[in-house]
Formats: sequence, C-alpha cells, structure tokens
Amino acid sequence: MKVALAGNPNCGKTTLFNALTGSTAHVGNWPGVTVDKREGQYRKKGARIDIVDLPGIYSLSPYTPEEVVSRNFIIDDKPDVIVNVVDSTNLERNLYLTTQILELDRPVVIALNMTDVLQKRGQKADAGKLSEVFGVPVVEISALQGKGLDEMMRAAAKAADSPRKGASVVDKVPAIAAICESAREKYQSAGISDIAFRSVKAIENDSLEKAKHPRIVEAVRRECNDEVDYEAIVADARYKFIADRCKDVVSGKKEGVKLSKSDKIDRVLTHRIWGIPLFLLIMFAVFHLTFSEDFLYLGAMGAIPEVAEPTLVNDIFGNGAINAPGTILFNLMDIATSKLGEVIAGAMPEGVWYSSLVNDGIVGGVFSVLSFIPQILVLFLFLSILEDSGYMARVAFIMDRAFRKFGLSGKSFLPLLMCFGCAVPGIMATKTLEDDKERRMTILLAPFFSCGAKLPIWAAFGAILFRGEHSDLIVYSMYILGIAVAIVSAIILKKLVFKGEASPFIMELPEYHRPQFRNTMVHLWQKLKHYLFRAATIIAGATVVIWFLTNISFTFKFVEDQGDSILGQIAQVFSWLFVPLGFGMGEDGWKYVVAAFSGLIAKEMVVSTLGSFAGMQDDALEVDTDQLLSTALGAMVSGMAGGAPAAFAFMAFNLLSVPCMAAVGAAYGELRSGKRIWGAVGYWMLVAYVVSALVYWIGTYWWISLILVAIVAAAIGIKIYVDKTKQKRLAGGSERGK
Ligand code: GDP
Ligand code: MG
Repeated sequence: MKVALAGNPNCGKTTLFNALTGSTAHVGNWPGVTVDKREGQYRKKGARIDIVDLPGIYSLSPYTPEEVVSRNFIIDDKPDVIVNVVDSTNLERNLYLTTQILELDRPVVIALNMTDVLQKRGQKADAGKLSEVFGVPVVEISALQGKGLDEMMRAAAKAADSPRKGASVVDKVPAIAAICESAREKYQSAGISDIAFRSVKAIENDSLEKAKHPRIVEAVRRECNDEVDYEAIVADARYKFIADRCKDVVSGKKEGVKLSKSDKIDRVLTHRIWGIPLFLLIMFAVFHLTFSEDFLYLGAMGAIPEVAEPTLVNDIFGNGAINAPGTILFNLMDIATSKLGEVIAGAMPEGVWYSSLVNDGIVGGVFSVLSFIPQILVLFLFLSILEDSGYMARVAFIMDRAFRKFGLSGKSFLPLLMCFGCAVPGIMATKTLEDDKERRMTILLAPFFSCGAKLPIWAAFGAILFRGEHSDLIVYSMYILGIAVAIVSAIILKKLVFKGEASPFIMELPEYHRPQFRNTMVHLWQKLKHYLFRAATIIAGATVVIWFLTNISFTFKFVEDQGDSILGQIAQVFSWLFVPLGFGMGEDGWKYVVAAFSGLIAKEMVVSTLGSFAGMQDDALEVDTDQLLSTALGAMVSGMAGGAPAAFAFMAFNLLSVPCMAAVGAAYGELRSGKRIWGAVGYWMLVAYVVSALVYWIGTYWWISLILVAIVAAAIGIKIYVDKTKQKRLAGGSERGK
C-alpha cells in the first residue's frame, strides 16, 4: 500500500514522514528543501506501508516545479491514499489545497497537524465538524510530538479499502455551474477519470490538462467567455466555501491571544532597521565562538599573562588569552593528528620515494583536512541551531527587502544561504525559483558564498597571518567579502544581463521553537558525513595525483626540487599571470598558483597542497604542528613575497573562483546548456581575478586607494551639487516664465 503526504510548505510533512519512517530526512524551514519526492516505509505490527513525502504546494495548478511534481505523482502514480497534511494553526489557507485534492478520485485522509500549538494557545480543533464538511476522515495529530500517528495510519489503511469519487466545492457556483456540467459530461463520455478535477481545470484553461486532453479542453473553452478570468472565480469560490463552512472548526480565544512569543521576538529580530545589524552581530558571535583565540577578550585586556614556555595546556587552551571552544577543539584534533603523523612517519623507511608519498602526500594532505573537522562541526552546530529555531527563515525575510534592489527575491536568498554549507545543494535548490532569470543569476552568485570546504583555508591563514591574533576577523572578513562581491555582481548582472523585476516573495515564517536535539545532530552528522566522504575519496585521490604532479618530472623521474616537477614547470610558466594578484610573485609564487589550481577541483585541496609543499622543504619528522604559525606552512605563508595583501588576494581568489567540480556539475544540471555553463565558469574566474587583484592593490597601495576614493567622492559630490543648482535654475526659470 502506498500513502502520499501532500500539503502546504511548512505544514510538517517532512517531520511527519520522518516520524513515520524513522528516517532522518532534512527538515527545513524554507522552500527548496523537498523539491523531489522522498519515499520510505512505515512498519507496524507486520504492516508495511510505503510513505511518499511530496514537495510542499499551495495548489494543484502547474506554476511551480513543486506543484508539477506533486500533481503528477498524485494523478499518475495513483497512491492508495492521499494524506493531506494541514497546519491547523493556518487552517483557511491550508484548506484551499484540500478543496483541490478532494476533487480527485482518490481516498483522502486529512491530518490536522500542529495540534500541540493549538493546545498551547488554548484553542481546539473540531475534527468531526471538518470531516462532516468534506466527507472524509479527519485525524488530529502532532507530527513533532508523534501524537495520533497510529490512529492516522489506521484511518488511512481503512480509507484505502473503499474507492472514492472526487467532489468539487466549486462546480455549483452560478458563474460556472453550466459549463462545469457540460465539461463533466464530455469527460464522462470519453471514459476519463478524475472528472471533478479535470472539468474545473479545463475551465481554468490549465496548461497540463490542455496538453493531456487537448480536444476536450478546447471544446470546454469554446463555451467559456474569453473576457472572464475563470481562475479567479474558482479561487474565490474555494475561499468563500472555506470561510463559510469551516469558520468554527478551530475554536478558542484566538482574538484574545496577545502577541505570541514569536511575534514578540520578531519585533526585535526582524526590525526594519535593526534586523540586518543584529544578523551581522549574531553571525560575528558565531564566528568568534568558533575561531577566536581570545575568546572573552581577556588577552586584549591584559588580564592573563603570557608564559614564555607554553605547555600542552597552553597549546590547547591558549596562551595569554583563552581560546574559544572551537579553537580548543581544533587544537586537540591538531595535536592528535600531528602525533599520529609522526608515528606514521617514524615507521616509514627513510629516503625512499614512497615515504614521501605517504608522509607529505597522503598523511599531510588528508590530516590537514581532518584537523579542521572540529571547527567545521562547531560552526555548523551554531548554524543548524539558528536554522532549526526558525531564525534563518526570518533572515530570508529580512533580506527580501534588500534583495529586491538587486533583482532577486528573498526566495533566492534561501538557496544562497545553503551555499554557506555547500554550493552543490544550494545550486540544486535554485530549482524552486520560477523565474528563469532569477534562477540563472542565483546560480552565478552561488559560489561567492563561502562554503564549508573553503573554511579550512581561512582558518589556516587566520592562524598564520598577523601572528594568529585576528583569526576570527580574517575568517569573518572572507564571508563578508563573498557577500559583498555577490551584491555588487548582482547589481552589475541585473544592469547588463538580466533586466527586469524580481518575482514576488511569499514565504511562511514558522513559529520560533527550541531546536530539537535529534534534528540538530542529524544535520551535523549529514554535514560531517559529506565532508568525511570527500576527504576519503576526492581529496585523498587528488592529493595523490597532485603529489605525483609535484614530485615527478616530465621525464618521469622523482625530483628533489618541486620546481622541476610537472606541475612546478607548468606553474612557473603561468605564474606571471598571477603576479598582478600578488601571490604569483617570488620564489614560492608558483606553489600558490598550483594550490589555487588544485582548489578548482575541490577547495579542500588548497591547504593540503600548500601543506605538502611546505612539508617537503622541511624534514617531515621535525615539523612542529602544535601551532600552525610555527610550522613550515606558517613560515611559507608569513614569508609571502607580496605580504599580507597577497595572502588576502590568494584567499579572495579561492573564495570567488570555480568552487569545485561537483558544484560545476550541479550548475550544469540546472543550466542545462554548454554555453551557459562555460559562461558561468568564465564569469567566476573573471570575478575572482579582478577582485583578487583589487584586494592586492588596495591592500598594498592603500594610501593611493584612499586618495582615489577621495577624488571619486569629490567628483560625485560636485556632480550632485551641479545637478542640484541646474535643477534650481531650471525651476527658477520656469517660475519666472509664468
Ligand atoms: P514541510 O515543509 O511540510 O516538510 O514541513 P517540515 O516538516 O519541514 O516542518 C516545518 C516546521 O514545522 C519545522 O520547524 C517543524 O519542526 C515544525 N513542525 C512540524 N510538525 C509540527 C507539529 O506537529 N507541532 C509543532 N509545534 N511544530 C511542527
Ligand atoms: Mg519538507
């Protein structure tokens, strides 16, 4: 037996699906999380029932991918029962879809969800009354608390046994009753099912129905008046029916309810002016907790003396300051992996080429990726908590106002937000954007949002630059730079390529609630799994390839100096291209070029490539990785020919260039055109190149930049002044002319 869960976005389908199947599917607070349907099994007392979680929809019209997926599934795959999940705290809007689902010839059970919220508000739902109105079983449930689920499944199993004929609440409406009747007859005589549904759709001139039964729809439309908006009439009739017949299904002191707790919190967090600064502040707090080496600013205040000879405790918890929790975990992991690395190195014979492969290539590469896991976990823990609590959905709402100015809507903010985790699901989530221009533009912006794999680069450079004193700021600055570039790039793209208005934004804000421990852990585990999988496959594999390319010459000989290696030779030929960016200069320049190229395959490669370069110059056994700054890599980066501006330019290049092969693949999947994907790749490289060059030049010649900015500002000021006086003169002139 097959049960399909259908309902509005955020009505709790995925929560219900997880509760029924024991699955750990992602419960998200925004559209795009469930574009594709998901299947699982409910097992109880020998019964095995297939459950399908459909994408959230507001209607069965064919305007969004979610609607098309859900509708096709319900009509073509013929599930035995449709469980229509209804958010009882938003009954009227949810029942709009219900009136459409009930037109299909399928058994339906209505699951009144979120009854726990009603209860808290002192309200009550009348399932019996609703069942009477619609003539199908209605069960009260709480997907979150797992209440009423067995009863719901029993009702579903029972409903599946008796066939049901679809019924419409709109076919008696005077404006369409006659056409409806004749449409029904046409379908009937053609022997087609779902008559109630199809006849209404034919009147609405629905595109999917027209494609399926073109002759009937044409015949029906001939009886219609082209001047009349039948869709509006039908929608109106549905709402009227719900308002008339279902108005007291939920009873209780709703009017008496003061501002709910969520509303009160929202007054502050989504404030028109304070919303965005608060968001930035919250994000800064998150980064500070994860990366800071001076957690409570005790070091900056001089409250803790620095010890000359740091002990293990200092290495872990901080010297002259207290490390943030994320940093402490990082240190623990780093010490553990470097000790393990030493053990492995000690066990390898000296002076043979494969020792170098294992020590510098595999151990150096994979371990440097592994040591960042604690910080990635801590960061994602905070982000998951913010997401689970409902705050991230608010951020989309806050951002919608701002995004409109750039030709995007809050809707595209959501996929972009996912890109902070990984650009691959982020790019895939652009499926939900109906507007093709907005979708393509969102894909182009996606890589600028710093993903989890880029984090180790910022963390490593943060630990090295400025003696590691401002690591939190450095990491934060990369995230901000990415956002800033995305904004500027959106403005330019809108001006030059994608002209036009953004589509309107409709999204629901879920109530705030305490994040669920299980949910948060599931998110974390999924992210960690993803990262570990990549570390074990792509990164390990690529490390080996890069090791060969950097240790074997064109004549297939093991080289002493990597400058003679295959990649070294190539990079030396091309590193002049990166001189304007600052990091292509100097003796080590080509190494950064190689690292940046390896980052085009996967960003996790960047640090490990640099690490293995640095490790090779040192005796691998003597590398002291207690603190990154004091390692060979630390020395290499601190000694960059272009100085700190070049280091920032290097980071910027990695931030903005092609994110990784997987993301390019995902983008191709969405753009579906060779020309467009090459355009996208070219665009990312161009932006990366230009912005990194700017970062380097402004960083190096900041005083010239200041002068330039002053000149530009003065020029703009003068132009505004001149324009104003001209206007005044014109105004004065016309007055005089009267
Ligand atoms: P979907 O979009 O329909 O798949 O909805 P989700 O399952 O993602 O749920 C949306 C939000 O509603 C999540 O934050 C859930 O935790 C919350 N939620 C779902 N079911 C319930 C419920 O029965 N009670 C309460 N209080 N919250 C729920
Ligand atoms: Mg869902």
